[in-house]
This record gives sequence, C-alpha cells and structure tokens, in this order.
Amino acid sequence: MGGFAVNNPPDGSTHDVAQSDHGNFTSLISELASSLVDVRPETFDRVLEEILEQVGRFTASDGAYIAQYGAQKQALAITHVWKDSRVADAHKSAAGLAAAHTRAFMGKLKRTGLIALGSTQAQSDELEREQKLLADAGISSLISVSLGVKHRCIGAMGLVMSGARDTWTEDQVSLLKITAHLVTSALHHDRIEEALSNERQLLRTVIDNLPDYIFAKDTGSRFILNNTAHLRLLKASVQEEVYGKTDYDIFPKELADQYFFDEQDVIQTGRPLVNREESVLTEEGRQRWLLTTKVAWRDSDGNPQGIVGMSRDITDRIEMAEEIQKHAALLEQTNAELQARNQELDEFTYIASHDLQEPLRKQVAFSDALREDLAAGDLDEVENDLATITSAAKRMQTLVRDLLSLSRSGRQAMDWEEINLNECVAMALDALEIRIEQEKAVVTQDTLPTVRADKTLMVQLYQNLIGNAIKFHGAAAPHVRLTVESNAEEYVLGVADNGIGIKPDYWEQIFAPFKRLHGRNEYEGTGIGLAICRKIVERHGGRIWVESTHGEGSCFKFTVPVHPGDSAI
Ligand code: ADP
Repeated sequence: MGGFAVNNPPDGSTHDVAQSDHGNFTSLISELASSLVDVRPETFDRVLEEILEQVGRFTASDGAYIAQYGAQKQALAITHVWKDSRVADAHKSAAGLAAAHTRAFMGKLKRTGLIALGSTQAQSDELEREQKLLADAGISSLISVSLGVKHRCIGAMGLVMSGARDTWTEDQVSLLKITAHLVTSALHHDRIEEALSNERQLLRTVIDNLPDYIFAKDTGSRFILNNTAHLRLLKASVQEEVYGKTDYDIFPKELADQYFFDEQDVIQTGRPLVNREESVLTEEGRQRWLLTTKVAWRDSDGNPQGIVGMSRDITDRIEMAEEIQKHAALLEQTNAELQARNQELDEFTYIASHDLQEPLRKQVAFSDALREDLAAGDLDEVENDLATITSAAKRMQTLVRDLLSLSRSGRQAMDWEEINLNECVAMALDALEIRIEQEKAVVTQDTLPTVRADKTLMVQLYQNLIGNAIKFHGAAAPHVRLTVESNAEEYVLGVADNGIGIKPDYWEQIFAPFKRLHGRNEYEGTGIGLAICRKIVERHGGRIWVESTHGEGSCFKFTVPVHPGDSAI
C-alpha cells in the first residue's frame, strides 16, 4: 500500500469501512473496471461521475472529483464531480477546489503519487496555502492521487470531506489508487479516440474542401472513399451511392477498362501512375481533362489494400493552351500575310511608278517638241505633238483609274449575300454589249450556281475575264464559253475562249499588276484587269489560274467555296 500509513479509527465512526468489507471492495473494483470497458463516448462522462459516486460512497466521503489539465496544459479544471447530497455543506465551489491544485500541489502529487490534507495523516504543512484555499471552498480534508500516463501527469482524482476527518483506511486509499489507474487508462483511451476522431475530421475537411478529386478503391477497384468533389463528378450526392461500385457501373466500358487495368497494374507492381492526362464527360455532357495520379495503398505489413487516387481538372489550362496556340498560329499567319502584302506593295509601287512614268515622259518630251515646232511654225507637227500629248494624258488617266479600281477591289468592305451568278454574267454582258457587237462575239454558258459572294465584285470579275476573252481573239470571231463544275467544297467556274492563247511561261505572271504580253498598238490595256480578278477571287476565299494552248485559246478558271469560311477576307 505504498508509504501511506493505515489507521483504523478506534471509535468505529460511520465514515469508516472495516476490513471485513474486503469482499465488497474487490467486487466494487471489478464493477468499476467493467463499467469502463467499451464505454461509448456519449456516456463516458456519466460513467465517470457514477464511478466517483461509488468510490465516494464506499469511502464514506462527502465528495469525489476528477481534475484534468486542458489542451494547453496550463490550467487544471474539475471535469467530473460527485457530491453527497446528504451532507448539507458539501464543498461549495469546484473553482475553489481546482484553485487548490496549484503548481506546488501538482508537483508534489507527481512526486509522491498521493497527497492528504486536513487529516491527522497530513504529511507536512508545506501546502498551507492550498489548505487555506480548500477551506475557502468548504473543504476541510482531502486525499488526492495523480492521474498519470507514463510519467505524464494528466490530472488528479480525489476524495473530499466538508468536516474534519482523521483518517483514510488502507482499502480506501487502495480503492482511490486503483480507480485512478482505471480512470487514467479510460481517459487516455478517450483522448486517443478523440484525437483520432479529430484527425479523421481534419482529413475529411481537407479532402472535402479541395477542388481536386480524391478517391480510394479496394483491390477490386471498388470505390470505398470519395471526397465531395469526386462524388459530384460521379453524379452522386452521398458516399453510400457509390460505395462498393466500380467504374464499370459509372463510366463507358472503354474508359472503365482503362481505369481498371491502370489500377490493377499499380496494385500489383506498387509503381505509381503519375500525372496521366485523361478525359471524362461531366454530368452536363461536357468533356473535361484530368491530370491523374494513382498510388498503391498498402497496410502496415505491406499487403495491397487498393489504390489512392488524385485527379486535378486541367480543362481550363488545356483550353487556354489551345487558345494561345490558335492565337499564335493566327498571329503567324497574319504576319506572313502582312509580309506578303508589304512585298506586293513594294513591287506594286515600283511597277506603278514605272508604268506611270512612261506617258509622263512622253508628255514632257512632246511638250518640248511642241515648243520647237511652234517656233518653227510647223503646224502639222504641232498638231501631231498635241495629239501625242493628249493620248499620253488619256493613258495616264486610264492607268490611274485602273489603279484606283485595283485598290478598291482589295479594300472595299465586302457585301456578302446569296447571289445568282447567271445574273452577274448578264450584267457583265450588258456592260460589254458594244464590244460583243463589234467583234461579233458569241457567248454560251452553263447554268451557273447561286453562291455567297459580293455581287458588284463578281460582276466585275466576269466583265474582266469575258472582256479579255473577246479582246485577245485570233483570226476567228471570239467564242466565249462560261462553265461550272462543283464538288463538296467548291465551285470551279471557267471562262474559256478560242483566242490567241498564252505560253505556259506567262501563266503565273499575267496576274501581276501591269503585266502585259503585248504592245498597246496590238491590244489596248493597262495590265491591271487580271490583278483585279485575282484580288476578287482571293477575297472570296478562292483561287484563280489559267489553262491555255498557245494559238488555240485559253480557259481562265476560278473557285468559289460552297461555304465561305475564315479564309475569305
Ligand atoms: P490587259 O487586258 O489590260 O492587258 P490584264 O491584266 O487583263 O491586262 O491581262 C494581262 C495580260 O494577260 C494581257 O495583256 C494578255 O497578254 C494576257 N491575257 C489576258 N487574258 C487573255 C486571254 N483571254 N487570252 C490571251 N491572253 C490573255
């Protein structure tokens, strides 16, 4: 019984318990012990209070208590208490009782394991202050033992008397010590349970508040845990809806197969699957991209339990990357176009200034000649000079007009509408009426389609091509044929003639501005007509080219997309 002396009081007072009660003592201990086995958390406090009552009554005390340190291990508080209601002034204040458990008190309790105050057995008077605090709380005597786990003191348990008490018997002290031991392990167990439950709660809070998908599956790839985000992805609102299900119950077979085989490989080899990009369909039918990692889950002996998986939705990132790539490609394309246009502009400026200079030079030269011929009084020559100057000025006028027309055909806003090409041809033929008559030209045509295009530009295109087909005729009267072929993407429209034809070397060059294959005395023109044609066709998203046999005729062909898309400008 440790170093605590046993004193059986001689007077047999009511507070005392005789040694003959030993049978009761052992059965009480086993009762107390069994009441603490498998105690449920919600009844734990009540059980402790009942234990205090049993011990209190058995030891004929006025009260019993358990005091514990709080989480910060600063203050000690009375957590469980029993007071004998029959004793009128059983200690009044739990706070006063707690206050008496000073640092000195607890230090001593830890060292000695037991403190008795106020009885004749009190070992010393070094705890005078504490005794006074107890007295203030209505307690005359107290016996207290330490609640400790492995040298760690978690609190105290004790019995108190309102009145003076001379002695505590050996059984009473033993009972207190044994009970303290039982209570300590129960409290310890309870604290561990609580800590575990807190930890579980913490983990749950963490995984449920993560936007990532987190899940665990057993070795048969059956879901056993899902965080809230993943439940939502699985179209479930509570765990039970998917618990024990496999991906085959949720996803299409092909996808479920992939998940299953991946996971079985992770389970069997223990090798994690890291950052695999996968796609899934959401509840709303949207495709999402996931970055998934799966690791093997094993128990402490290394036996496979299943897998733990984490998936992050990277759809936004992927879409953004695609968007950036698209922009970069567009930028590259725009850059290339810009460069091509710059080059085109350079060439154009060079050619334009060159061609414009020719009539200008003529005007300057013939103005000088005019002055000389006037001085010489040669009126025939004067007439001739004036005619040349006027012709050069007219040519400049035509050049400038055609230049403007070329510029407009590239710049003017497009007026997209459904147009019937037969109507465009009719308008073009109308404009060419006089020349058709003069040259006795015959124009035949297929039935042309309705396309989405700018009407004014299409009329101009046909006018230029038919005009050329008539102009560049050979010995025979011009015969122009307007044709059409089509496939799923485009119409291929043709303007064929029986004229002089073009050598293959020039098939490409003739579409450049001012490019002409003949002198003006042979065929009138500025060399801009085909450049305008190419601009118009390209603005509709098509291509233009010529097929020709020199001396037999030419066929100019151009395409118009069936569905003009982004390529049209
Ligand atoms: P222009 O008709 O004012 O000369 P274009 O740009 O329309 O200018 O034509 C450029 C050149 O292409 C013409 O000068 C001519 O040499 C050649 N060409 C155009 N159309 C035909 C055609 N149908 N047959 C033969 N040559 C043609």
